[in-house]
Amino acid sequence: MAENILTMENIVKTYKMGDEQQTVLKGIDLQVDKGEFVAILGPSGSGKSTLMNIITDNLRPTAGEVALDGNVIWKNSNAYRARLGYMPQQQGLYSSFTGTRFLWYMAALKGLSHREAKTRVNELLELVNLKDAADRRIGGYSGGMKQRLLIAQALLNEPDVLVLDEPTAGLDPKERIRIRNFISEIAADKIVLLATHVVTDVECIAKEIILLKQGRILKKASPMELIREMDGLVWEFLIQPGEMAGVQKKYLVSNIMMTDAGLLVRAVGNGEQFPAERKKAAANMEDVYLYRMEADIG
Ligand code: ADP
Ligand code: MG
Repeated sequence: MAENILTMENIVKTYKMGDEQQTVLKGIDLQVDKGEFVAILGPSGSGKSTLMNIITDNLRPTAGEVALDGNVIWKNSNAYRARLGYMPQQQGLYSSFTGTRFLWYMAALKGLSHREAKTRVNELLELVNLKDAADRRIGGYSGGMKQRLLIAQALLNEPDVLVLDEPTAGLDPKERIRIRNFISEIAADKIVLLATHVVTDVECIAKEIILLKQGRILKKASPMELIREMDGLVWEFLIQPGEMAGVQKKYLVSNIMMTDAGLLVRAVGNGEQFPAERKKAAANMEDVYLYRMEADIG
């Protein structure tokens, strides 16, 4: 019986750069249960894509193991791939292909039968709302349409484990929201791992957020817990326009808003360092991200 539990144990990845060694993943331990939607949130270079490549069996770690239901994935490669859907961060799309042809091509690569492919391709074009554009060349698609097509190919084999690496890259805010809602719809009863550096991609839809910094997990918690822990760490105060540069150097500023009374600064930290005339503010995920990634809190 497939239980659908994905485990990572002490994943380490070291790259050789000439004579230098660079360790980009420094011991990642993680368990993801069936139906869990986990976001890997971290700045560029923190190791997200490296981890996604390892989880999808496209890259071997220097040390450590990834297992699905206790079976190490690279010892059961075919069985694992049959249950896996992957949307890599970088994927070429043949611009001369139509959407339909691309999905048929990917279905063939994944070993679907002609019959399965026919049903699945049609279903997916419908699901990702590309039915009308299905017979147009991909070269003429918008960024959002391309991303949706790439998500569709990841779903061809009805995966139990869906891995999406920066699925909203290069999209405008409206398309971003559409993709986000769409992902949350398809996430039901599968493991979803979504890597992103964009807080708003995942703050409302992920069950758990993993904050990744320089190859280490800083924290794994629900968005609610992360926000709750920020109580008393988010402040607002007014400054004059001339003070702006100094303030940005001195504090972790998460937002600046122009008001009639002056510039309203929102900053994270334990409070005392900010001007006396300050007000406590309710935290959001942007504050969490800024504080956890930037503050010198070890
Ligand atoms: P992210 O997806 O979070 O931006 P990556 O996993 O792409 O991070 O990269 C993490 C670090 O590993 C970066 O410093 C990057 O330069 C380095 N890196 C990634 N791939 C390679 C590679 N093939 N060879 C050497 N260094 C690499
Ligand atoms: Mg990446």
